[in-house]
Amino acid sequence: MCQHHQTQPDDAQSQHPPVRPVYNDAFPWHLGAFDAHCHPTDTMASLASLATLRTRVLAIMATRSQDQQLVAEVAAEHGITDSLSSLTSTSDTDSARRGCKVVPAFGWHPWFSYQLYDDSIPNPTYSLPSTEDSNTSTEEDAKIAHYKAVLTPSPQDPSFLSSLPTPTPLSSLISSTRQYLTSFPFALVGEIGLDKGFRLPQQRLPDDDSSRDESLTPGGREGRLLSPFRVQMQHQQAIMQAQLRLAGEMGRAVSVHGVQAHGVLYDTIAACWKGHEKKVLSRREKKRIAPGAEESSSSSDDEDSSSENDDSMRSKEKRAKRKIGGKPFPPRICLHSYSGSADMLKQWLHPSVPSTVFVSFSIAVNMSTDGGKAKLESVVRALPDDRILVESDLHMAGDEAEGLLEDMYRLVCEIKGWDLEYGVKTIGANFEKFIYG
Ligand SMILES: [Zn+2]
Repeated sequence: MCQHHQTQPDDAQSQHPPVRPVYNDAFPWHLGAFDAHCHPTDTMASLASLATLRTRVLAIMATRSQDQQLVAEVAAEHGITDSLSSLTSTSDTDSARRGCKVVPAFGWHPWFSYQLYDDSIPNPTYSLPSTEDSNTSTEEDAKIAHYKAVLTPSPQDPSFLSSLPTPTPLSSLISSTRQYLTSFPFALVGEIGLDKGFRLPQQRLPDDDSSRDESLTPGGREGRLLSPFRVQMQHQQAIMQAQLRLAGEMGRAVSVHGVQAHGVLYDTIAACWKGHEKKVLSRREKKRIAPGAEESSSSSDDEDSSSENDDSMRSKEKRAKRKIGGKPFPPRICLHSYSGSADMLKQWLHPSVPSTVFVSFSIAVNMSTDGGKAKLESVVRALPDDRILVESDLHMAGDEAEGLLEDMYRLVCEIKGWDLEYGVKTIGANFEKFIYG
């Protein structure tokens, strides 16, 4: 069975030849492999492959106006309905190819944050003209004012500005996301986050429309060149914070995107932890507490001990919600395709952090640059075994995504010194904890 080389000192490791059997073994799909972050609704036809995939569950992300309902429809047909224990069955008699389930995630990606305006602040960037001064101000003016305020540098080109959609109030996004989360009790919030590197694509030219690939869900970049315009970080933060609060209110996990924004991402999430940090006991304090009491004291905030009132009418998800909902921060967070350093992980994993933070890796992002490749090993090594997830982050379901998922599973196992069986089981247990708590 499994060998945990990573805890052995170097000299002990060197006694064993550095054979890497993980690459020769058949992949144990029957133990349950999970894709913690992907976008198959970007290519709807690819969802037909769900019937034949060996992956047990895909966590599928919504990102923008065009894909929220698509994610809901796929979840209505293929969504998980119960605990994953039935899905993580280790019986060898289980057919590996028995169809793939999905966990839906509803959220607004930072790349599309400019399409929303924050209507919770006193002077929103978009405000419709009142009837009295309708002569001096139009909806178009209000739209232009919004984009000039939230984009940087402030765009001046009238044709670029008019090509952008009329912005949607943030409150509408939050209420429709709340409805989706209510309809799907196991749904996550995602994809949300911050991105300093992102620039808006240039406007679509009339000629582009006739040549666009109809198999792709609208709203994506689709090969357009990039404009110089970025979304103000403060605006991205406001959009993200509202969704973090919703996840906290509903007791749902979040899948988080962070590019060139590791410090500000941490600060944004840490702001919603304020006042809820876990008390970190000193060694002396721990000794004073009777065995067993320590755990309940640190998690007492989360517990609802009215178990006597539990009856069969109360479903598992209702109990789960009561137990972990109603906080200003999400109970569980996945930093997807994490590109920060091993050192930066320390703050996310600090014992005072009240959310359980998982970190997920994809071949598509983490292995796409030399910098990413160079960092991966130290980051994976620095992560506790129970916080690692694996993902494809691809924009379609199918053999390619599954192949890349398998490659990342193998790579993580190799870095951790796990055999595949142990690695797949460990990551499966982590996925279950990420979804259900
Ligand atoms: Zn993504």
